[in-house]
Amino acid sequence: MKSQKESTATESRSFKAEVKQVLDIVINSLYTHRDIFIRELVSNATDALEKMRHESLVQTNYNDKDAPFEIRVDTDKKKHTITITDTGVGMTHDELVNNLGTIAQSGTRGFVENLPEDTKLDSDIIGKFGVGFYSAFMSAEEVRVQTRSFKPTAKGYEWKSDGVGEYTITKIDDLSRGTSVIVKLKGDAYEYEDDDNVKRIIKKYSNFVPFPVLVNGEKINTAQAIWTKMPSEVTDSEYNEFFKFLSTSESEPTYRLHLTSDAPIQLSSILYVPASNLEQFGFMKLKPSVSLYCRKVLVEQNTDKLFPEYLRFIHGVVDSADLPLNISRETLQDNLVFRKIGKFLTKRILRFLEDEVSKDTEKYNKFWELFNRFIKEGVVTDFENRKELSGLLRFRSSFTDKDEYVSLADYTGRLKEGEETIYYINGRSREEIERGPYMEAFRKRGIEVLYLYEPYDDFVMTALMDYDGKKLVSADSANIELPPDDTGEKKDEPVLSPDDIKNLTQWMKDTLGDRVTEVRESKRYINRPAIIVNPDEAVTTTMQRIMKASDRDFGISGTKVLEINPDHEIITTLKKLRDGKSDKGFLQLCVEQIYDNALAESGLLEDPGTMVERVYSIMDRALKAEEKNS
Ligand code: ADP
Ligand code: MG
Repeated sequence: MKSQKESTATESRSFKAEVKQVLDIVINSLYTHRDIFIRELVSNATDALEKMRHESLVQTNYNDKDAPFEIRVDTDKKKHTITITDTGVGMTHDELVNNLGTIAQSGTRGFVENLPEDTKLDSDIIGKFGVGFYSAFMSAEEVRVQTRSFKPTAKGYEWKSDGVGEYTITKIDDLSRGTSVIVKLKGDAYEYEDDDNVKRIIKKYSNFVPFPVLVNGEKINTAQAIWTKMPSEVTDSEYNEFFKFLSTSESEPTYRLHLTSDAPIQLSSILYVPASNLEQFGFMKLKPSVSLYCRKVLVEQNTDKLFPEYLRFIHGVVDSADLPLNISRETLQDNLVFRKIGKFLTKRILRFLEDEVSKDTEKYNKFWELFNRFIKEGVVTDFENRKELSGLLRFRSSFTDKDEYVSLADYTGRLKEGEETIYYINGRSREEIERGPYMEAFRKRGIEVLYLYEPYDDFVMTALMDYDGKKLVSADSANIELPPDDTGEKKDEPVLSPDDIKNLTQWMKDTLGDRVTEVRESKRYINRPAIIVNPDEAVTTTMQRIMKASDRDFGISGTKVLEINPDHEIITTLKKLRDGKSDKGFLQLCVEQIYDNALAESGLLEDPGTMVERVYSIMDRALKAEEKNS
């Protein structure tokens, strides 16, 4: 920057409270990754230049028309400074206050707020959040920001702070357009005045910055838009490095897709699936990470609404000459070309994933383990692509080993002529499901059941409804008609006649009252006295459980049908005693207990208190009977 003839008007201001807090955390927790402050400052310079390049194409009146778009990094061993200078849009007085005095704008705040205690900060996580401008204070004794906006009437200012509590802003004359960040290094940070070290850091983090980056006058990055090249001209390592640059991570991508097309829309795009899913840690929701360009000029960084939300895990760039440059964020979404590109690329991504399944199933399964939530979210939200998305779903199954996956196509491929249903059941684990009340009927008949382990999986299945014309049905549904079981096992003569069963179920229904809509004989095979089945096709038992657990009233009735096994000894004994002179009150207690046991097995028992009391009174009776015998 030029002369520093200061005007007398210096104003002092204090940081907003949260800035102090963030400064503290950034400085302390990221200390071992100090290098990244250079990346952050270069990245801010890049953003400012991208905006400037855009402005220069849509404005005629702006400061310093001839200034080349570039970033200069200069070190000074005498003054112990490193200075990052750009010829970008600069900042006006108010922008300085808003952008550097609060952290509302910065990604830093969300990062810090959502960080669970004891999080291990690996470099991928740190990179993802962009800790921003304040990271300079990890190495700085003092930071000065000299800036002048591109706006024709804008004056120059210097912002200055030691990062502790206050900053000052002073008007200065003779600044040219852009921003200089002058970092006065702390005694233990002199490594950042070393030319070679700075070059190494910039090569590592900023090689793909689309503007020349000069370290002490020497250009050290390649500064090219690799997405505009032909795929055959880009090496694997260039693709990987570009991904690392885009995602600010140090791992290589899982998948990449490089597309170029001339008709119907001119388009070139490189899209990546990363190697980790940061939503998995549960402390943040990913933001869209695909940037939009028109002939290498940034139209919008990390644009949202280009892809449906569930594709937010995709990183990349999209460049189209057909996009209008002079378009605001708001109107972008109404732009026909923008929408067409979004639709086209969404379909291409889904088709790409489908192709990857056959290319390398194991790799796809790994993708599935990391990103399945997004695909499931897609099934529920993206009606237009539901078919493609449902093909990407993977499940565990009663027919396969515990670490094998099956697709819906695998399942339907195994169906026999005339079988029209895909069965699934939700539970916490394979063991719990197989021990539970519903699998026996399917096992006996050799019918495959898909195992779902995530509570929200049932929402996915009910949203999908069917696949390839076959209905998706939860195995605990009351409306299932299973074929007779053909295991060839000889069955004993039934103990109870149809009339007996009718009377018994009627009496049980009277006993249970409104708690069940019906008590009936089970036509499945069940190896316990009774089970609960769910007559509501749209809301599975698991969904009822989730809705109950949340505080909101979903207005679900949660109707239940009790199915009994008339061959079970408990049921036949119950019938015999009811016909005799036994204490009817006690028998009713047993019916209630059978019902509660069935509820418990479906995970629907809400209040164990009443049940526990009842069990004690039944035990009391059993113990007294035992006492008489002994
Ligand atoms: P982020 O880049 O995530 O917005 P930062 O903390 O890095 O957060 O920067 C805060 C804001 O300060 C930026 O959004 C930008 O408006 C402004 N800013 C920082 N550096 C520059 C620069 N070199 N030129 C213009 N504006 C800048
Ligand atoms: Mg930044």
